[in-house]
This record gives sequence, structure tokens and C-alpha cells, in this order.
Amino acid sequence: MIAFIEHSLPHENNDAQWQEALKEIQGTVDYDSIFTSLAGKDFGGMKRTKPAAVVRPASSFDVATVIKAAQTTPNLTVAARGNGHSINGQAMANKGLVIDMRAMGGDHVVVSAEESYADVSGGALWEEVLKRCVLGYGLAPRSWTDYLGLTVGGTLSNAGVSGQSFRYGPQTSNVTELEVVTGRGDTVICSPFLHSDLFFSVLGGLGQFGVITRARIPLQKAPDMVRWIRLVYSEFDEFTRDAEYLVRQPKEDSFDYVEGFVFVNSDDPINGWPSVTLDSDQWFNPDFLPPNSGSVLYCLELALHFHHHHPSHVDSEVERKMEALKYVEGLRFSVDLSYMDFLLRVKKVEQQATASGIWEAPHPWLNLFVSKRDIADFDRTVFKKILKGGIGGPMLVYPLLRSRWDSRTSVVIPEGEIFYLVALLRFTPPYPSGPPVTELVDENKEIVRHCTKKGYDFKLYLPHYKTQHEWKQHFGSQWPQFAERKSMFDPMAILAPGQKIFSRTHKSSQLL
Ligand SMILES: Cc1cc2nc3c(=O)[nH]c(=O)nc-3n(C[C@H](O)[C@H](O)[C@H](O)COP(=O)(O)OP(=O)(O)OC[C@H]3O[C@@H](n4cnc5c(N)ncnc54)[C@H](O)[C@@H]3O)c2cc1C
Repeated sequence: MIAFIEHSLPHENNDAQWQEALKEIQGTVDYDSIFTSLAGKDFGGMKRTKPAAVVRPASSFDVATVIKAAQTTPNLTVAARGNGHSINGQAMANKGLVIDMRAMGGDHVVVSAEESYADVSGGALWEEVLKRCVLGYGLAPRSWTDYLGLTVGGTLSNAGVSGQSFRYGPQTSNVTELEVVTGRGDTVICSPFLHSDLFFSVLGGLGQFGVITRARIPLQKAPDMVRWIRLVYSEFDEFTRDAEYLVRQPKEDSFDYVEGFVFVNSDDPINGWPSVTLDSDQWFNPDFLPPNSGSVLYCLELALHFHHHHPSHVDSEVERKMEALKYVEGLRFSVDLSYMDFLLRVKKVEQQATASGIWEAPHPWLNLFVSKRDIADFDRTVFKKILKGGIGGPMLVYPLLRSRWDSRTSVVIPEGEIFYLVALLRFTPPYPSGPPVTELVDENKEIVRHCTKKGYDFKLYLPHYKTQHEWKQHFGSQWPQFAERKSMFDPMAILAPGQKIFSRTHKSSQLL
């Protein structure tokens, strides 16, 4: 348990003026290296920084006070830190102020059952939202992430993608109002109809324009049960054809969740056949595989919601919806579980990985959006060659529909209507038990280089670049708007320095 010392004494070399301003804060401020070093790490485990102080805000007033304190200085920056689940230091502020948004999480999920929405603190974990909404009211948000130990403000600053996004869009398309403290220090309530510029800037805005202190999330009736299904394919084109068919079907003819992943055609317990089964009494019988199967195989992952008092309908509904699918006969796995257990499924992985020490090891993850146009070529080079031995964790690949993404937000995605999320979620023991991190980072770079060289229609998701030139390329035609929004809402470039998009300044003109 981390204990923060209230207003503990600053080191002598800290600037007296901003420290004086922070005394207004109702939460806590800590300058002690024991505590600041925690805010200088993240899930990626590849980068370390040292913030000047960590603030645990009690309210949006405190968040505004921190930003205003930074404004009085020539170079102090401020990073909101969600749960620190970034990979490349995106939530860090070296020598700056880190706002630990979890301090405003916890109980701050207020549900309006009549109007079917929840008002949620930016620092709340999605897991907390789930428990409050589903257990308390039988209601649930429409769009999730796979893992729920992430904060609402953190995923809304990126996109928030999972197996429901094909239908409802990412989490950034499923929020109706925000309270934001801008880089100017103003606390603003915004929505698609009120201060909409700020609303859309902040969604997918990589923390650049303001700190999300509250989000209004629409809710719908939650199911109580889920049938979770995995279907194996030996051919990529059959896998993608079925996945794309399902994401384009109307709701009544499709599933409530569609994802997919690549696995190794071997008995390797982590990367191979055993990673596909859903229950300990299930067995992956490779005799069912066609003799010409390649080095990797594909798994379509589906889920159907249902209510436990109507279980008899489920079998026939599943059969009807799967009629057209061409998976390998005999390699179909399914299990029924509660909606809560389904949504918390990755927590079990976290517990196992924590026990074996690989949750704390470095995670050089790579996330991409690759257009349908290029995904078969990507499969041929990346999955079948570069990653044919697996990565020690999931290699997700599943289709999404551009039309479900609100183009007014700051998120950038490929041009094509259908594009694939590719998530290379590497889990390997720390070196020397596992490979050196640099080797894995180089492999990621090789993959990105390949995509660029072949002219793929692709974008990095949870992007990470070192220069503004690279960021301009990433945003493409959206760059001028992104830079203009920065000048408007954070003209001194105080916020989210760990993204390395803009440099701290006193003059807004230097940003462009
Ligand atoms: C195990 C694991 C599973 C994941 N699963 C998924 C998934 O299924 N789908 C998916 O889309 N992503 C997934 N992610 C990625 C996740 O969305 C990002 O890591 C994201 O950064 C959220 O993490 P966080 O809440 O810890 O935010 P942080 O990493 O702490 O912050 C991320 C960025 O947002 C900014 N920020 C944080 N809070 C706020 C706020 N309140 N207001 C403004 N800016 C803020 C930070 O300054 C930083 O720039 C996963 C990550 C991990 C480690």
C-alpha cells in the first residue's frame, strides 16, 4: 500500500513559488523520492523518470491549482497519471508534476438509473465502473477494454478498444459529457453541444489539451450471462472473411463481442494450441487441423450475451449465427460464465502473471491499426515470418469499422472502412531468463518499418514517437487541427510532456 505524506517538506532546490501555490491543495503533495519514483515508472518498464512532485488531488480544483502553479514557471510540466499502464512513459513528467488521478477514482462512480448514465471520475478504473453499474443497477457501459485495470481518463485519452468496438465504436465514441481542466487552468464542462471543440479535442487527445476529471458514460441493460466461444482457422483469408462478415451483420445476426488472435501451430503451452481452450477439461486435438496448416493458426473469439432464465434459447441462437462460418470442424471451444467473470477475464491473467513475475517485467508492446487492404500482406510477413514462434503473450488481430469512430475526436485511424487492431502483447521473463528487451524493441521497429516501406494504410495505436516530425507524419492531415487545438487549450504546452509532441514554452506561437 502506497502512503503519501501530506505536504511533506520539499527539497531545497525546488522552486518556492510553485510549491507555495500547491499549499492551496486539499489533497496531498509529495516530494519524497520514495513516492515520486513510483510515478516515474510505468507498465512498459523500459523508461524511468523523476518527477519533482506527485500530487494526489481531492477535486478538480486541485487539478486546476497544479496547472496554474506550473504556469507561473518557465519550464514546469504536468502529467495526469491514470494507472500508469502506458508502455513508453506517456504518463510521466521528468522534473515536472505528476497528478495521480487514482486519488480521484475509487468511489466516484455516480449512476443515474433513470437516465441510464454514470458520472465517473477520470481516475476511476473501468473495473470500478463495472462493479458499481452492474452489481448496483444491472446496467453497463456499451464499450469496454479487454483489461479493466485502466482508468477512464487514460483510455478516453487514447481510444479504448475491445470486442464491442465493432458495434458501438471505441470508448471515445461512448461518452456524452466531460469535465476537463484545460492547460490554461480553466475547468470546463463540455459535450458534443457545449464547448464541443474541447470535448472532441480531449477524446483521443493523448492528454494534450486538458485533464479529464469526470466523464458521463451512457449505460444499457447488462446481461447476466455470456457464452464465450473460440473457433480455430488454419487459413488467414477464411478467418478474416468470417470476422468481417460478423462485424458487418446487423445485431440480431451477429455476436455481442468479436475479437481474434494468432497462435503458434505447436503444443507450446503459452504460444500454441493450449492457449486456445477455455476450460481445463477441453483439449485441442491437432488431428483436426488440415495437413497443409502453416506455422501459425488463427482463432476467432466471440461472445453472446444472455439471461440465465432463458438458457434454452442460447444453443439455437448460437448455431444460427454461426451457420455461415468456416472454422476447422472439431476445433470449437465454448464456456458459459457470468457477465462479470467475462469482463474480468484478464484479471485472472494478471494474477497468474504477477505470481510468476512476468507482470512486473518490461513489456515492449506494439499496437497498430492496419487497413483491411494490407492485413493479408501483414499476415504473410509479420505473423507467418517475423513472429512465427509467438511472443509469449496474445497476438490480437480483429476488424473494426471506421464508421463507428467519431471523426471529430483527436484519434487517428487508417483510411479504409475496415481496419484491424493488431496488438502484440509480449510477456517474457526479464533478461537473462528471457530475451533482452532491446531485441524485442528492435523486432517492433522492424515491423513498423515493414509497414512503412510497403506503404500500408496503418497507424500506431497508443503511439510513441520521439520527434515532432514523426508526430506530424502520424497525424497526417489532422496535424494542423491537432496543433491548433494545442494552442487553444494548452498554449504553454504544460500537459502530458511524456508524449513528446510539444515542448514547454511561454509563447503559444512556438507550438506550430
Ligand atoms: C494490461 C493492459 C491491457 C490493456 N488493454 C487494452 C484494451 O483492451 N484496449 C485498449 O484500448 N487499451 C488497452 N490497454 C492500453 C491502455 O488503454 C493504455 O495503457 C492507456 O494509457 C490507459 O492506461 P492508464 O489509465 O493507466 O493511463 P496512463 O497510462 O496513466 O495515461 C495514458 C495517457 O493519458 C493521459 N491521462 C491519464 N489520465 C488522464 C486524464 N484523466 N485526463 C487526461 N489525460 C490523462 C496520461 O498523461 C498519458 O498521456 C491496455 C494496457 C495494459 C497495460
